[in-house]
Amino acid sequence: MNESTLSGWTERLHQSGLRFTAATRSVLMLFASDPGWGPSHAEVLDRLHQHGVDINRVTLYRLLDRLAACGLLERHADASGRVWRFAWIGDQPAGTLHPRFECDACHRLVALEPAKAKAREMAQTLQNALAAMGHHAERLDFTIHGTCAGCASSPP
Ligand SMILES: [Zn+2]
Repeated sequence: MNESTLSGWTERLHQSGLRFTAATRSVLMLFASDPGWGPSHAEVLDRLHQHGVDINRVTLYRLLDRLAACGLLERHADASGRVWRFAWIGDQPAGTLHPRFECDACHRLVALEPAKAKAREMAQTLQNALAAMGHHAERLDFTIHGTCAGCASSPP
């Protein structure tokens, strides 16, 4: 992890009124070192405990939400719609449309090329339509769901 990456994170956190605590650093390192990881809150908690990081569920829950709010993590409901999953987007400028594929069996995320002009145009059209109805769009989640190559070739 180089200095400019760290100072970039620190700045994003600072702008959102967050402090760069040891727990925050551990969480960011976990995500940044495994960009395809799409864990639930419980899975992040497990991995932190495996790394010897002592953090309680509630603190972690709040931290994940705040990291999502400041644009370092992205939060989306999984296929069941019952579990929130988090994914790393810290390397991309805020507001980037980042399409990806999520395997509904193993929850790996595969990042696709950042959206080209046509996709951004489509997103803008949808947001304008919402605005015309008086709704305020805040976040666009562009996820294709399915079964990854690994899961397809080795059914459970
Ligand atoms: Zn899979």
